[in-house]
Amino acid sequence: MKIGAHVSTAGGLHTAFKRADDMDAETIQIFASSPRAWKFRDLKDDVVAKFHESAERTGIAPVFIHGSYLVNVGGSPDLVEKSIACLIRNMEVAAEIGAAGVVFHAGSHKGRGFDAVLASAAHALKRVLESSPEGPWLIVENSAGMGSHLGASFEELGRMISAVGSDRMRVCLDTEHCFAAGYDIASPEQIDGAMSAFEEHIGLDRLAVVHANDAKVELGSGVDRHENIGEGHIGIEGFESIMGHPAFRDAPFVLEVPGTNKKGPDKDNVDRLKAIRERLSVPV
Ligand SMILES: [Zn+2]
Repeated sequence: MKIGAHVSTAGGLHTAFKRADDMDAETIQIFASSPRAWKFRDLKDDVVAKFHESAERTGIAPVFIHGSYLVNVGGSPDLVEKSIACLIRNMEVAAEIGAAGVVFHAGSHKGRGFDAVLASAAHALKRVLESSPEGPWLIVENSAGMGSHLGASFEELGRMISAVGSDRMRVCLDTEHCFAAGYDIASPEQIDGAMSAFEEHIGLDRLAVVHANDAKVELGSGVDRHENIGEGHIGIEGFESIMGHPAFRDAPFVLEVPGTNKKGPDKDNVDRLKAIRERLSVPV
């Protein structure tokens, strides 16, 4: 169970490793381009070379790319087209830099309902996979269930994945989104039921990565608000329940917390998760 964080790439993609090293992160997630824009910076060869050098020197792996927040495979045809192009570009970068995969939010059905957009969303994801290099996974993240966001339930994620029908589809489980969607993974009595539902609808072998975030909001609130580890409604005991459960044994944990100085994931939060891992004697 590797523990790491989402880190900034300001100054070049390879600079992520220095930041990760400074906080003793063992795995990282990065944005390959601005997450709030469609425009994509072209990767220069020397940046790719430096990225591989830094990855090798620090031994930090796996690397995940988080896709653009604008992606919405449940939206209008125009939006879906843009989303496909953006995801393909992210998958190309993932292949170039040796990332394990691209994490993305499926988006929103805008009140039309999940069933109404399932076929077009699955078709869009098939097209992404057909036009992307082999290797990186396409990793859909569970949502908190806010508004009409797709994929808050394991059933919806499972149906989407079955409709795509590819071995390259994986799932990112965000602990905050999961808790906000009503799965009480913080409770040692309830987590078995939640993860059995994951196994039934998706399959635990599809779990590629965990976004490890405490929750500013209560169980089932449907709201996406991340908190530092141990300072929210999941709490340290909640993370003991999660990290001690066999379903999470081999998953890399990536922090997306506000940080103690509000500057994003930091060493404090990495250390909190590592302390739990050590207490539970979970193998690294
Ligand atoms: Zn997340």
